[in-house]
Amino acid sequence: MLKKVDHIGIAVHDLEETAKFYRDVLGMELQGVEEVATQKVKVAFFKIGETNIELVMPTSEDSPVAKYLQKKGEGIHHICYATDDIEKEIENVKAKGGRMIDETPRPGAHGARVAFIHPKSSKGVLTELSQKG
Ligand code: ZN
Repeated sequence: MLKKVDHIGIAVHDLEETAKFYRDVLGMELQGVEEVATQKVKVAFFKIGETNIELVMPTSEDSPVAKYLQKKGEGIHHICYATDDIEKEIENVKAKGGRMIDETPRPGAHGARVAFIHPKSSKGVLTELSQKG
């Protein structure tokens, strides 16, 4: 079962520049910056209540997020839901006709295991499932 919105991912060209808005204008606290090699991105997390804002910047031209930025520009990139059993959630999505990008979990930020659901299954919203490591 999905528990909560874990974070909202926002695709950006410049992590440091965008972080200033969340920190200085909105007054959110920067939790940390981390590189996620498997997805060729650098992320910055801001905690807000029970959830987080995740700024996502590509570290390579062939990162999926670089392609996203070229096509759609900066903005909301994905929504991530927390789960206690990611394998079960993947099976559940597939059993009910959803299409996974990741059939098996892969390493995400903060040691979490994550899997993405194809946006074609969810009316254009890239959806991430995440289980804490
Ligand atoms: Zn994410």
